[in-house]
Amino acid sequence: TIAVYDSDPEIYAVMKKEDVRQQENLELIASENIVSKAVREVSGSRLTNKYAEGYPAKRWYNGCEWVDEAERLAIDRAKELFGAEHANVQPHHGSGANMAVYYAMLNPGDTILAMSLAEGGHLTHGHPMNFSGRFFEIVPYGVDKETEQIDYDKVQALADEHKPKMIVAGASAYSRIIDFKRLRKIADSCGAYLMVDMAHIAGLVAAGCHPNPVPYAEFVTTTTHKTLRGPRGGMILCREKFAADIDKQVFPGIQGGPLMHTIAAKAVCFHEDLQPSFKTYQQQVVKNAQALAAALEDDDIRLVSGGTDNHLMLVDLTKTGVTGKDAAIALDKAAITVNKNAIPFDTKSPFVTSGIRIGTPAVTTRGMKEEEMVKIANFIKRAIRNADDDAVLAQIKEEVIALTAAFPIP
Ligand code: PLP
Repeated sequence: TIAVYDSDPEIYAVMKKEDVRQQENLELIASENIVSKAVREVSGSRLTNKYAEGYPAKRWYNGCEWVDEAERLAIDRAKELFGAEHANVQPHHGSGANMAVYYAMLNPGDTILAMSLAEGGHLTHGHPMNFSGRFFEIVPYGVDKETEQIDYDKVQALADEHKPKMIVAGASAYSRIIDFKRLRKIADSCGAYLMVDMAHIAGLVAAGCHPNPVPYAEFVTTTTHKTLRGPRGGMILCREKFAADIDKQVFPGIQGGPLMHTIAAKAVCFHEDLQPSFKTYQQQVVKNAQALAAALEDDDIRLVSGGTDNHLMLVDLTKTGVTGKDAAIALDKAAITVNKNAIPFDTKSPFVTSGIRIGTPAVTTRGMKEEEMVKIANFIKRAIRNADDDAVLAQIKEEVIALTAAFPIP
């Protein structure tokens, strides 16, 4: 029996409808994935009942002997996965992981050199409404106008000029390999800490499909729910000499009791990520992104920077005459889920945009390969070119549902 069916039919109905949506739709949001049944079981387990302020063997509450074991397993597996000296697995989300690093190492008003939001960075890298933009002096760097790839010479020049206390690398909408070695050199040239927010690419890093920032950066933060394919949450990796500062800043600095069900689910995720099958999965994520990008590119559809090295691509729709916002709405009607996204040097507002962001982690988890990517590219092109024609969009939706039916979600 399903308890929520009897106790809360309204929420039960929501869950059932969301199940159907996830099964029927093509999920192409680059920051999403579909977790295993094991991760879901642990996320919904009785571990949620336990208060465990503090760290393993140093808790403020009693009765923590078993959750201590779960947290130790999560820490050990995270360190093994990324070759890190220290891991804090308690951040409730990626934003909190970044907040803890900034608050641990910087004072209000200190300067952070970080990727511009308009060119791929994240809110926590300096948006004026975010804590990062409110409490720190943000100097943004971006991409070169021609190559649309990070302009490292410019980053060096900005570091020389502003002498930041911290350089932040990592992005939410950047499809190319990030050169951590170069960024380390730049950080050393001005005596800055280097923090890499690898939220988007962490799964690729774990599988060896993207260079690992851990050898280069004092601090590496991530979410656990994107390419890593774990529960929603965050994590901080750092050098041993900063371990105490980081741990103190997470608790009691910015958080209270950790989510022990989530921490145990992170442990399950890291265990899955250490298996050979995870490497095969991530390699397929990249192959699928390249196949999708190649099939999408057309006279009127351009890929920012000309393609992708990772799990996502930014698509410039300027020549189609359809905005990012309208494209995402049309695709919704065709059961294809993407998000509108500004492209570098976008002339449209962030609420409208000239582009969409597309990622392959979720469809690859379902078992789709290059052949399906070509079909998906054709669905997307037809939908965008018929963005005003609900009959065509409904027809595409039927075809999408037929395709997804052959690839059940875990
Ligand atoms: N960092 C990057 C690069 C991200 O893309 C995101 C989420 O999209 C985050 C941090 C924040 O993660 P959360 O939504 O868990 O706070």
